[in-house]
Amino acid sequence: MTDVLNESEDLHGGADGHAGSPLNFIEQVVEDDIAAGKNGGRVHTRFPPEPNGYLHIGHAKSICLNFGLADKYGGQTNLRFDDTNPVTEDTEYVDSIKNDVQWLGFKWENEFYASDYFVRIYAFAETLIQKGLAYVDDSSSEEIAAQKGTPTEPGRTNQYRDRTVDENLDLFRRMRAGDYPDGAKVLRAKVDMTSPNMQLRDPIIYRIKHAHHHRTGDAWCIYPMYDFAHGQSDAIEHITHSLCTLEFEVHRPLYDWFIQQLEIFPSRQIEFARLNLTYTVMSKRKLKQLVEEGHVNGWDDPRMPTIAGLRRRGYTPASLREFADRIGIARRENLIDLGLLEFCIREELNKTTHRVMAVLDEEPLKLVISNYEEGREEMLNIENNPEEETTTYRKVPFSREVYIERDDFMENPPKKFFRLFPGGMVRLKGAYIIKCDDVVKDAAGNITELRCSYLPESRSGSDTSGINVKGTIHWVSVPHAVEAEVRLYDRLFSVENPAADERDFKELINPASLSVVRAFVEPALVEAARSGEQSNFQFMRKGYFVLDADSTADRPVFNRTVTLKDGWAKEQKKN
Ligand code: ATP
Ligand code: MG
Repeated sequence: MTDVLNESEDLHGGADGHAGSPLNFIEQVVEDDIAAGKNGGRVHTRFPPEPNGYLHIGHAKSICLNFGLADKYGGQTNLRFDDTNPVTEDTEYVDSIKNDVQWLGFKWENEFYASDYFVRIYAFAETLIQKGLAYVDDSSSEEIAAQKGTPTEPGRTNQYRDRTVDENLDLFRRMRAGDYPDGAKVLRAKVDMTSPNMQLRDPIIYRIKHAHHHRTGDAWCIYPMYDFAHGQSDAIEHITHSLCTLEFEVHRPLYDWFIQQLEIFPSRQIEFARLNLTYTVMSKRKLKQLVEEGHVNGWDDPRMPTIAGLRRRGYTPASLREFADRIGIARRENLIDLGLLEFCIREELNKTTHRVMAVLDEEPLKLVISNYEEGREEMLNIENNPEEETTTYRKVPFSREVYIERDDFMENPPKKFFRLFPGGMVRLKGAYIIKCDDVVKDAAGNITELRCSYLPESRSGSDTSGINVKGTIHWVSVPHAVEAEVRLYDRLFSVENPAADERDFKELINPASLSVVRAFVEPALVEAARSGEQSNFQFMRKGYFVLDADSTADRPVFNRTVTLKDGWAKEQKKN
């Protein structure tokens, strides 16, 4: 287990359920605030997605953190849509976000929208103007950027900075009234053009954007910038602890400056490292590109790191929460091994799934068991899961003809090949020991079937044959087999950290991230999956699989969630 935990030393496991583990730094801040009697001991967090895409596993970390913290300290969490950017946002995203948060197992106290605060945020802007702390600037965005200076050179002020309060109020009201085209003017906070912190060099707080908003329609043609919406929304909702990712650390002085100048509720911003995961990208902008340019089949493609993709891949809410718990909270950026996420789902599915048989092969090999009566069929009892406390069994049909995978037979086997070969014996899992008597070939020399014989006294559970065979292989009875499509997924990118690569991330897509194979599976498993009785399975020797929504009445489709062992880590050790 420890070899997949690729993380820095300042990580702590989550607190819940790990009695005695030290507090993470955010819990420490919260406990200090409670001890100091701040906010009357109240803890109120929020999860603030921008509805411009589907949530990914990084958001899941933030969700677990915000909701987990409130839970731990008897507090509350709001779901707040940070919808201040009309062009990129959509109700489709709002719906998917709500669905994903609920699916993860969390319940928000309130569902809020930053756009519901547009009137109040606008009023905050007028307050700043009235205090002489904001001004309308007519400069172009290029001029503003040029005047801003660099981290080592102070910025320069311009003539608009000296506009009077009345002039600013009038211009700002006219901006709101729609008197100017996009980009003609902006409202800037008057902070400090010489501050070493670039964020404080008179940041833009309102811009003109004549665009339809998914909730407010055409009511507004000016929209607040992130820095003038986020903290203000936190204050309006009386959020006590506003958790955000590290890149906002440099925004914190501005966050606090607005609180001070506007005399609003003093929410406390705390930053933590965003989750980065190997072999994938985690920015919504990039994920959106993958979807829109057809590199994947939608936001819920099982290769995507989105919550919807992971769900379709067969991940469970508990496995994602477990993952978030294990990676903990860090104050430094880090890259987490995808193997850890896979470890979390494998651990869970090992405990919960039935072991079933599926022959994954375009052209499986047919065994004909010559001494098994034609037309006879037996229902064998096969154990569902050796991990179960109370063993349960299911019925699996056996008959004279069974399919096995071609890889489980070799005509000229090397030493230590314990599967089937001419004259050799194996056990058919849960059934009988068989012997390969003859290999049947077509005119071209391709093997078409194997003639075998079975030992009637070797039936699993009541074996009196006294024969020990080294190999056990899985099989499916030919007349009972259900043909299925199986989708085998691999990592979406072929390099560990595509975001850090110089090449365009789309050039780094793993060309073999999806392969589709034909399979023959036990009939009972299809029934169980279709009835919703079970959705995740272990296909013996193959990995964990889940029924996909693309299944049709005559052709079930299964996605491979994860292989049985971490084949990748093993491969890397060899090299
Ligand atoms: P992206 O860059 O993927 O679009 P974002 O930060 O713009 O992400 P938001 O919808 O604004 O996406 O994020 C909602 C919340 O989720 C924020 O509080 C943000 O800090 C957090 N979050 C986003 N990505 C991650 C991540 N990779 N790890 C942890 N938290 C994240
Ligand atoms: Mg964002």
